[in-house]
Amino acid sequence: MNKKIKIWVDEAGRWPWAWPVVACSLFFNAEYPPSKAFIKKLDDSKKLTEKKREELFEELIEYSRWENPKLYFWVWVVDNFIIDEINIRQANKEAMRRSLVEVLRKIKHNPEQKQKIEVVIDGRDNYVFDELDKKPLYIVWWDGKVSEISAASIIAKVFRDKMLQTYASIYPDMNLENHKWYGTKKHKEYLSDASKITGIHRCSYKPVKETLEKKEKILLHICCGPDATVPIIDLKKDYEVICFWYDPNIQPKKEHDKRLWELKKVCEIEWVDFIEWEYDVLNFFERIKGLEDTPEKWDKCTECYDMRLQRTALEARKLGIKYWTSTLNTSPHKDLEKMFTLWDKHSLKGNLEFLKIAFRKNGGFQRSVEYTKKHNIYRQNYCWCIYSDTYPGGRRTAPKTKK
Ligand code: SF4
Repeated sequence: MNKKIKIWVDEAGRWPWAWPVVACSLFFNAEYPPSKAFIKKLDDSKKLTEKKREELFEELIEYSRWENPKLYFWVWVVDNFIIDEINIRQANKEAMRRSLVEVLRKIKHNPEQKQKIEVVIDGRDNYVFDELDKKPLYIVWWDGKVSEISAASIIAKVFRDKMLQTYASIYPDMNLENHKWYGTKKHKEYLSDASKITGIHRCSYKPVKETLEKKEKILLHICCGPDATVPIIDLKKDYEVICFWYDPNIQPKKEHDKRLWELKKVCEIEWVDFIEWEYDVLNFFERIKGLEDTPEKWDKCTECYDMRLQRTALEARKLGIKYWTSTLNTSPHKDLEKMFTLWDKHSLKGNLEFLKIAFRKNGGFQRSVEYTKKHNIYRQNYCWCIYSDTYPGGRRTAPKTKK
């Protein structure tokens, strides 16, 4: 007998964020086809009610069990682990291929049949299968129009749903009835907590991946653009960096603005957020009052660091950001020991954690020099206040007043 057999293929579960993709390959027995009355009942699985789908599924299974089956089908499941490994497109192809291979085996095992085989797939994927002599025909949105495609989609969908029902009891707080593992708002809300990601979620899918890779925030006090470069780059690997600009010690204001502008450039290049605090220069003069004549790295500088670190810690507390640190750790001109004392003091008050990283070490300072050259970032050549030893035009002498 020389006949043509059309195998129809459809899948279920391509778009949800969890569990497997299921493919069904199917053909109706040309000699003993399902009744016209039954075929009339078949429709796109998405248009049928859950109850109707299940009834039709049961009937289709029953028909395939008969001595002279009315249909032949095979279902193949590719789970979320494989999906994460090879991607959903390839996983879908594999599910289709394996279900096809099994249906082809059924046909070829019948020695009386030497049919020409044509495969029709619902979708636009254009997969090519080595097991077929001819490339499948791809059709779109035929679920409700061809009874075989409707039957394949019902079998794949109900088969998958039955597997998922078992998970409803394992994950009762997932509110499965609200999202059925699809990318709904409720499902996204549920996933905002990484500890709630289940073993059947597709971890390679963006929303799941983003939650898994979600980083702790860190508030990074910035003293200037060049010194910010290495800390931003290094911290970005493990944290979501938010830069915090508070440097009213810089004079004149023009110089302050110039350095702030350079920081904005760095933030733009590195795609990090920043918060700009006001230029309350009077606060600086107040804080160092009486200490203006002390040498650099001594008392006035300690007050200057403290003013900025205190403000940063307050902001971290306000924003609920536990981790914080400062780019003051980059410059070779600063006294790290003094800053260590300061961070301990401010961290304790807000239950914060100051990251004790000496950014200037391991070539950090040199890296920042190279970065600023490459991106044309302005690098200042004097410390920031009018009382610094390197202030252009000479260090100003402060009036001799005691604090
Ligand atoms: S010399 Fe630099 S660190 Fe010291 S007080 Fe002036 S601006 Fe602050």
